[in-house]
Amino acid sequence: MTSFQRFAELCQKVEGVSGSLEKIDLVAAFLADLDESELSIASSFIMGTLFSPSLDLVIGVGPSILYEALARACGCSMEQISDMLRATGDPGLVAAAVVEKRKPIGFAAFLGGESLSITDVYQRFLAVARASGKRSQGAKVKNLQFLFSQATSLEAQYIARLAIEDMRIGVGEGGVRDALAKAFARNANDVERAFNLTNDMGLVAVSARADTLSDLSVMINHPIKMMLAQLGESIPAAMQELGLVALEWKYDGARVQIHKDGEKVRIFSRRLEDVTASLPEIVQTAKRIRADSAILDGEAVAIGKDGRPMAFQEILKRFRRKYDVEKLALQIPLHLFLFDLIYLDGKSVVDLPLTERRMLLERIAKADPSILADEIQSDSPELAEKIYRQALDAGHEGLILKNPASAYAPGKRGKNWLKIKPVMETLDLVVIGAKWGEGRRASFLGSYRLGCLDQLTGKLLDIGWVATGLTDEALADLTETFRELILVQKGMEVELKPAVIFEVAYEEIQKSQTYSSGYALRFPRLVSVRDDKSLEEADTLERVVSIYRVQRGRNDSAGSRLK
Ligand code: AMP
Repeated sequence: MTSFQRFAELCQKVEGVSGSLEKIDLVAAFLADLDESELSIASSFIMGTLFSPSLDLVIGVGPSILYEALARACGCSMEQISDMLRATGDPGLVAAAVVEKRKPIGFAAFLGGESLSITDVYQRFLAVARASGKRSQGAKVKNLQFLFSQATSLEAQYIARLAIEDMRIGVGEGGVRDALAKAFARNANDVERAFNLTNDMGLVAVSARADTLSDLSVMINHPIKMMLAQLGESIPAAMQELGLVALEWKYDGARVQIHKDGEKVRIFSRRLEDVTASLPEIVQTAKRIRADSAILDGEAVAIGKDGRPMAFQEILKRFRRKYDVEKLALQIPLHLFLFDLIYLDGKSVVDLPLTERRMLLERIAKADPSILADEIQSDSPELAEKIYRQALDAGHEGLILKNPASAYAPGKRGKNWLKIKPVMETLDLVVIGAKWGEGRRASFLGSYRLGCLDQLTGKLLDIGWVATGLTDEALADLTETFRELILVQKGMEVELKPAVIFEVAYEEIQKSQTYSSGYALRFPRLVSVRDDKSLEEADTLERVVSIYRVQRGRNDSAGSRLK
């Protein structure tokens, strides 16, 4: 049995080294030594995943449960915990510090309890996740409290981070995959493929050890990573790249992966969360599919009274709604557009070419062809251009060009699906605040709060955050520039004297109640630091609103939703 202390020591070491190869070596050496069940648990824990997707469990621990458990286990007050949190901004470090000073409660502590094993921690997390119903909050706290009362300070650090599924040690899926390949001398591509098909690192780890990776395949009721589209340069360039293409609208909706298993239907979102309960009409539609079992891929689009797609936020409301679902479904009805098939009647079809998958999809959706995304194969750029314009006129996002001969590549953003969307103008925004990074990047300001100018009042109104995606070196330079501009420090956040302008690209401007400008940027990214621009040249709220209108105008000819 491996102690959780050893796992925590590994995490500490991994957190302390900066090179990804070093991290992978450490993880590989650790995993190679474990027994089967520990291997399965630890390889998921390292990337902050607690349970296999087949268990369909969520831990459901927010800060309040976590801190209450800590306070109870260690005999300190919630105020003390919030003070420490303000100072460090890291729940893991707070847990470590609190446990370090733990006051013994009751006699159990004097008996010198057993040390925790990896499996003990996992079992407790299972109990936390399985606590449901009225008294679930109390049961969750009790189980976590038990862990904190038994844990060493270092163990507590990683128990806390696991509980909130944020390990902060710089190892993601890719890192664990490479570590498994190294630990058991397997081909990294085989490990990646197995993970993409099953989305279950524990299962992949055990199969890597047993040399049965090639046996792993798509499973019904087991969400699989979605295939993604790469941004194409232009229609002619994309057609040149692919030759004959399958042309489809890029619908303005939200991705759904539907698992139909007999009469049972489950729907997963793009992030592979189970959203079945929120989408009853999609469940009904899926039931009409003529197949014993199938995994279907498509887009759910909210159609307004005018027959045009509603704003993306409206769809999100549907996906998040847990109560009064039917009522909201009347206001925001969803229509399904299926464009792919992943699994049919007990077998994976991911390796069939798109053309064949599409034929099978058409066959099983025969009863209800309106649920199929329109698709046409062509090598004519003129036709592609025409379909692209139609999509925009109809209020959708653009065009997707797909390679008809391509397999379904789960989790891949590759050239076999190319998306074409209108290019958004960039915005020049003032940097008005920032956040210190975490772990290795704790001494850098990593993300920046942006503001636009309200010409009426002369005030800067915030419009969201951008994380720079810069190298450590560039980030260090930028931090130096901003260090002198810090006005107020509040925990991990700083307020900055407005002086620097960032040119920011984004995919879309959205209305937002979070920011004082009333708008937010979807997928913002830093294009350049506009040292050449003075504050007066920053973009105004007026410009933000006008771009928003043009963009929505594409989606809403009447313009009635603009106000
Ligand atoms: P993006 O979110 O910009 O990376 O674009 C990819 C997304 O477009 C997919 O995840 C789908 O949600 C969406 N989409 C809309 N229509 C299609 C389509 N016909 N084929 C594939 N994806 C589509």
